[in-house]
Amino acid sequence: MSEFNQWRVVCPHCGDTSTVRSSKQMCDTVREATVTCDNPQCMHSWVAQLVAVRTIAPSINPKPGVFIPLSQRSQAAAQQAASAQMELGMEHPPPRLATG
Ligand SMILES: [Zn+2]
Repeated sequence: MSEFNQWRVVCPHCGDTSTVRSSKQMCDTVREATVTCDNPQCMHSWVAQLVAVRTIAPSINPKPGVFIPLSQRSQAAAQQAASAQMELGMEHPPPRLATG
């Protein structure tokens, strides 16, 4: 079962539920799926894309060459955190001293 099958895909023509027949990864950020309408009075079949458009939380193990822009909300949070660090004089935090 592909991850697309967990989505409720509706037909753009009749609004009925539809079934993902197959999907393939086009590149790091795009997956294409072939979808068929379940309504026997419609039978529309089309190609849909799942595209990574915004980052909500950055990867802790990012792949070189993959860039997905931060969402506006995440950008605001990152700027707020950066300015808070600067206010505290923590732009370059000192290295932690080993204890023990
Ligand atoms: Zn349909």
